Amino acid sequence: MKIGYGYDVHRLTANRRLVLCGVEIPHELGLLGHSDADVAVHALMDAILGALALGDIGKLFPDSDAKYLGADSMELLRTVILTMDKAGYALGNLDITIIAEQPKLAPYITRMRENLAGAFNCAVDNVSVKATTEEGLNLAGAGIGAHAVVLLCEK
Ligand code: MG
Repeated sequence: MKIGYGYDVHRLTANRRLVLCGVEIPHELGLLGHSDADVAVHALMDAILGALALGDIGKLFPDSDAKYLGADSMELLRTVILTMDKAGYALGNLDITIIAEQPKLAPYITRMRENLAGAFNCAVDNVSVKATTEEGLNLAGAGIGAHAVVLLCEK
């Protein structure tokens, strides 16, 4: 078995979509980034690549490459899952914590888990997505962060 950890933060800004785990969330602000800036999926991809000691998403999908401008992070995740599969590993389970002062994410958590389980073709029980605030102390609404931990099992 291999364990991986990923962390990412993106800034909230006007005139951008807010996409988390492939779910578009209605909000006056969205996340700034080269791709769709799906911070939760970015942390998850880094956790998988970390478990396999294959670097990070910046190495796989460089933001200097115009190919990834506005990229759908769920599509990038499918590429990382394929890489994991080729390396001989399958997902045991994953756990993501999204840190956001705003908006409230509770109504979207189920769809996020279903989206990720669909990408891995695994049971939703193996996919945990949680959301928390930092009580206004740290990110304080300027951005959204995400931590991800994965357990990969040798096939
Ligand atoms: Mg990122």
